Amino acid sequence: MSGYPEYMQASLEKVKATRPARLEKAKAGREVIERMSLAEREEVLSGFHPDYQPDARKPIRIGHNKGEEMTSRVVDLLESYPSINPGDFDLSEPDFDTDVLIIGAGGGGCMAAIQVANAGLNSVLATKLRVGDSNSMMSQGGMQAAVNPHDNPAIHYLDAIGGGHFDNKPELVEALTMDGPMIAGYLEELGVMWDKNSEGICNTESGGGTSRRRMLSCRDYTGAEIQRVLRDEVKNHPDKITIVEYSPAVELLLDESGEAAGALLYNMETEEYTVVRARSVIMSTGGFGRLHIKGFATTNHYGATADGLVMAYHAGAKLLYMDSVQFHPTGAVYPEQILGFLITEKVRGLGGQPVNKEGELFVFPLEPRDVEAASFIRESTKRGMGVKTPAGRVGVWLDSPLIDLLSGPGTIQTTLPAMVRQFKRFGIDITQEPMLVYPTLHYQNGGIEINTDTRTTLAGLFAAGEVSGGVHGRNRLMGNSVLDYNVFGRRAGKAAAERAKTLAEREAKLSLDHVRAFRAELEDTGIPETSHAPILIPEYRNPEILKKHRKNYDPFIGRFL
Ligand SMILES: Cc1cc2nc3c(=O)[nH]c(=O)nc-3n(C[C@H](O)[C@H](O)[C@H](O)COP(=O)(O)OP(=O)(O)OC[C@H]3O[C@@H](n4cnc5c(N)ncnc54)[C@H](O)[C@@H]3O)c2cc1C
Repeated sequence: MSGYPEYMQASLEKVKATRPARLEKAKAGREVIERMSLAEREEVLSGFHPDYQPDARKPIRIGHNKGEEMTSRVVDLLESYPSINPGDFDLSEPDFDTDVLIIGAGGGGCMAAIQVANAGLNSVLATKLRVGDSNSMMSQGGMQAAVNPHDNPAIHYLDAIGGGHFDNKPELVEALTMDGPMIAGYLEELGVMWDKNSEGICNTESGGGTSRRRMLSCRDYTGAEIQRVLRDEVKNHPDKITIVEYSPAVELLLDESGEAAGALLYNMETEEYTVVRARSVIMSTGGFGRLHIKGFATTNHYGATADGLVMAYHAGAKLLYMDSVQFHPTGAVYPEQILGFLITEKVRGLGGQPVNKEGELFVFPLEPRDVEAASFIRESTKRGMGVKTPAGRVGVWLDSPLIDLLSGPGTIQTTLPAMVRQFKRFGIDITQEPMLVYPTLHYQNGGIEINTDTRTTLAGLFAAGEVSGGVHGRNRLMGNSVLDYNVFGRRAGKAAAERAKTLAEREAKLSLDHVRAFRAELEDTGIPETSHAPILIPEYRNPEILKKHRKNYDPFIGRFL
């Protein structure tokens, strides 16, 4: 029995009817449809990608990137007023004094903490929710690393640079791709169980924009497996790593010479503030999916509210490529309960094809993500070839049953068990029926500018993972982010520990003067105090209803005053 409404059945029949011909082509090893030329890619991007729309960007009026065009929603966030009053805090007696403060305990933060402990130093690992509650935990498809004989880091480098529209910082891509095979081995040593064939060789799949099969995975819950291992390893060092949960950082603290020297944490349960002093600080707070840029649904976890960008910007660090947003082509658009839920690119890597309401394959399944997403939007909107949902949304089919037809019955169940289970909850069997998809806000392509040691432009501050910018240019390829947080989380831990060792005797005098200065700059620029940041947790409750019950609710900062 179909899990889709009656009115979608005619379209589903068409998908079924065109499947044998599409399958035959795929089986013959031929390209199932021609890839787009560069000119065609540019055309679809400029016409349909949300980043290219006239109101997508605007110049920022304050801070180190002043005058640069950024995503409009990001500008609004960065032009928000700080959420604390510096005068309320006594910074003279820190609650924690440590070598390295790591802000954010997703994959990047955990990897960094392990390296600091290995260097024999202490760290505080402060995080918004629990250790591992993060995008890293949710990653599905896998991690790129050039481990196959037919591949090498140089080819991986070219793929990543091409995918990033040649905007990537080359030295960061070199670090990413050269460290890749080592990271794959290191994670395995720590305990990650990569999918392997019967001879013990790692399975590898293709991803959008990759010229070789190099995606290592753990079924379709790669992130949960890696995060499990990293979290366990963090917990193996209780003498060295102090974990502080439910305590997001709200501002960085600087020393007398303006270098990063700690942070102010806010305990979300007790509402108390904690002062942490450190010789080095690592920002690993992840991305911005929960900003719901241009009203898009998101794949991201609830803590992905761009706090790291805000804090780093208040403290004077430079940001890079904040004009670019990654919309993943395949977010669930039906059923409504899982709107925005990621359907891993691995589905297309394994042979799943995007088809329109007539069952026609309309785009090469593995174009780079931005191109693929833009062509889904064009098909669903201008061309009117999408399928409407009962909630009034629109999407295209992702024909998953092809995977079993191509690689044998049971392949979907074995390689995509989480996806099968997710859709089964709603009566949809993805081994028999396609999924209905539409682009979803997925990844922050830009971020805090770093060098290969993860040093930012603010001395004492290091940044690793999705919060940083430059590695992926203006478009990240699948599997390169899991690699990114491992490669640069490791480098950050090592570099931050090195710096902390050279400052072993230092007891910095802490200050929030930069927050005062930021506020003054906002006021001088004439920006009204209508919003505050960091926002910590997105507000989904209706402000009108909340106001009825509690008079002192501030819709701008999203909480009661
Ligand atoms: C559903 C999904 C599937 C994905 N699949 C893949 C994939 O298959 N392959 C791939 O390469 N990439 C994938 N990605 C992207 C990838 O998982 C992330 O980009 C990457 O894990 C980010 O790691 P991170 O450590 O930088 O950030 P995160 O893992 O998000 O960790 C950031 C941590 O910081 C915490 N935090 C936030 N703000 C604060 C604050 N103010 N103070 C303290 N802590 C804070 C957060 O709560 C979180 O715990 C996927 C992403 C999603 C959402």
